Amino acid sequence: MKNTGTKLTLAKAANKTRLIIMWIITICSALMTIGGVATFNTQNIFGSLVVILGFGAIAFFGITKIIKLRTQKAALKNYTGYIARLSNDPPKSLSRLATPFNLSTDTVVKHINALIKLGLIQNAYVENDRLILPERNLYEKAPETVYVTMKCACCGANTTVPEGKSNTCEYCGSPLTK
Ligand SMILES: [Zn+2]
Repeated sequence: MKNTGTKLTLAKAANKTRLIIMWIITICSALMTIGGVATFNTQNIFGSLVVILGFGAIAFFGITKIIKLRTQKAALKNYTGYIARLSNDPPKSLSRLATPFNLSTDTVVKHINALIKLGLIQNAYVENDRLILPERNLYEKAPETVYVTMKCACCGANTTVPEGKSNTCEYCGSPLTK
């Protein structure tokens, strides 16, 4: 398993490359659309419409992709800060997480979902503005086990785990060692 530092670096590089490619595609398609309108040929209405609608659709798709990639970019930028704060907030409230970043809860929910999709937060999902980590919840249902808090060497999150068992970080999945 790749460690989180590597994963984060790779995800940031992939995001940057995709954004550049999508900007080029979108700008070219927008120019082709404008060109199609400017050179509209009344002798060939069907052909002209195919050019305008075809490139217009690609430009529109490009814009929606760019919006998603920019959300992903902001999520990646805040990743370390999000994990540090979430690991110190047992209810894992995303509305509380939004405040220090000056963001709306909706935006933070989008960011966290983007990070889950990228595999940077593992075995998790968002429910009612809270980050739910199912494995952790399972541990909490077994009261006879002794728990220890360990700091992840990869992402710095504190994870509470049953003592004496080999475990992985609840955020990034890296193995935890003493
Ligand atoms: Zn970790």
